[in-house]
Amino acid sequence: MYFVEEDKEKDEEPGWCRTREEMLKEVKSKPLFDIVVIGGGIHGACFARLAAYNGFKVLLVEKKDYAFGTSSRTSKMAHGGLRYLEIFDLKQVKEGLKARDELLKTAPHLVKIHNFLVPIDKSKFFDRVRIKFGLSLYDLLGGKRIGKHSWYPAESRPLVITLNKTSEWSGAYEYLDGLMNDTRLVIENIISAIQEGAFCINYCEWKYFKRTSDGELICTLYDNINKEEFEVKAGAVVNCAGPWVKEMPGFQGLKKKILFSQGIHLLFDVSWNGPAFLMPKREKPGYYFVWPFLGKVLVGTTERVVSEIPEPPTPTEEEIKELFSYIKRDFNTDFLPLSKAYYAYAGVRTLYNSTNRPSIFISRRPRWVVHGSVLTLIGGKFTTANLTALEGLKLLFKAADIRDRSLIYPEGRLLPGAGLLRRSVDEFLLAGRERGIPDKLLYSAINRFGSRVRYITQNSSWFEPIGNSCLVGEVMLSIKQEQALTINDVLKRRLLVQYLPDKGIGAIGKIKEILKNILKKQEAELDKEEEQYKKRLKEVDGVLERARGGGGSFDCD
Ligand SMILES: Cc1cc2nc3c(=O)[nH]c(=O)nc-3n(C[C@H](O)[C@H](O)[C@H](O)COP(=O)(O)OP(=O)(O)OC[C@H]3O[C@@H](n4cnc5c(N)ncnc54)[C@H](O)[C@@H]3O)c2cc1C
Repeated sequence: MYFVEEDKEKDEEPGWCRTREEMLKEVKSKPLFDIVVIGGGIHGACFARLAAYNGFKVLLVEKKDYAFGTSSRTSKMAHGGLRYLEIFDLKQVKEGLKARDELLKTAPHLVKIHNFLVPIDKSKFFDRVRIKFGLSLYDLLGGKRIGKHSWYPAESRPLVITLNKTSEWSGAYEYLDGLMNDTRLVIENIISAIQEGAFCINYCEWKYFKRTSDGELICTLYDNINKEEFEVKAGAVVNCAGPWVKEMPGFQGLKKKILFSQGIHLLFDVSWNGPAFLMPKREKPGYYFVWPFLGKVLVGTTERVVSEIPEPPTPTEEEIKELFSYIKRDFNTDFLPLSKAYYAYAGVRTLYNSTNRPSIFISRRPRWVVHGSVLTLIGGKFTTANLTALEGLKLLFKAADIRDRSLIYPEGRLLPGAGLLRRSVDEFLLAGRERGIPDKLLYSAINRFGSRVRYITQNSSWFEPIGNSCLVGEVMLSIKQEQALTINDVLKRRLLVQYLPDKGIGAIGKIKEILKNILKKQEAELDKEEEQYKKRLKEVDGVLERARGGGGSFDCD
């Protein structure tokens, strides 16, 4: 490690963020770093934030856009993982619950407490005992900090209107857990890392590194926007490339121990803000969830071992049919008709496979592999990413034999959108209502940006609505402060409008105009982006249609 000494001028204004071009210029002119982090998913973002907070000079590179990988394709649960009790992974559950509670405090606009129901089949007395035991243990390990589990009678309205064959259920157990906006959590961790002094560059690909005779690491990177290769020197490299972890030169030795498992999710155009459901799959081990997401219903997930990781991972007809069969069996068709499925996405888990067990029985705990000053992360859970980063940085301290400084974990440090939440939100709502903006649009902005909506309050023209999707100010914030560079970045990974039934198509015209003005993009380039966005939606429409016999589409990148 170098301990690059620099006067880092940290602007304390929350929400402040340097632009990609500013950072890139400095990276190229002073290419010496303590740590280079590969990957802008949740693990890379949390690692960069923690390392920068501890005074290291950090560079994070992401080959596509932030949260392009698994981190925007999760089940959106900030949880301990009730299911992991079945594989006796008490450590994972305990840490998950601790991390969930921290997220509820540090990102209250992005992580919310929600109630989950586990319906109990009347004919399966043993199930009732097993679930009761599991939930009692979950409470004991920390679950009860936000509320203990309880019994939910069969005649309760949410059960009556949602479940199939209501007379066959004796009721449900209810427990509380967290639901999160995974993608926005990545973005806010990136902003926070930059505010702590890290350099974060999206669309910048790690190519390879070589070690000099005196132990330095020379990293070759490729700037995908300016089409330029450049080198930086690093004291340590931290590989957080998720499912692409083993593809990079220098990391192939890991191959044998890694297993990849794809999981898919379906979105239904059904308005629902009621309880979430945890249902046993029955035909095979495991459970699936049905829960509200952006006011609609999300259903997932599946487990399928894969050897190739396509970009992006895509749901197959069989995977969709599997989820359809559970829904048909367990849920009332008035509540969840298959014809209302309009979107599907897939993500890939990276699992450390030291035994030959089926993927469902493999622990989700992260593993750090250390080779001198090169650290590689395999697996892990989104919820526990901060704890995983802490563990990794401790290993780096050990590997570099750092004794003259101690590692600080910024427990409870708020993410950028969490500061001054109440006041900023009140002022934003008042200003928006004065301009006649519908509450639905105002609350969507608050749920995305938290207290950073105050930037919109300060610019009256930013209140202009873009159809029913978002406000102009949200697009401005995405581009000016969050490095969104394309139509897809804005629609999918900043505003999540792609997950709404119209998939953001109606907002494209205005977004193109803003991208053209701010980033000086050429019209032809923007037309091409629009064409690709629509083409991808169209291309993959067919799989959902074949699985169900209707329309639908998949995520596009
Ligand atoms: C179906 C499914 C559901 C899940 N649900 C949950 C859940 O509800 N709760 C939970 O806590 N966890 C959940 N998880 C686990 C969680 O999603 C992952 O642990 C987490 O997102 C992994 O993040 P990551 O940063 O390690 O990887 P990723 O998010 O995949 O990030 C890796 C990044 O590295 C980049 N990259 C790759 N190669 C290069 C290169 N050469 N140069 C630069 N960048 C590169 C990629 O573009 C990518 O953005 C789920 C996982 C799956 C698959």
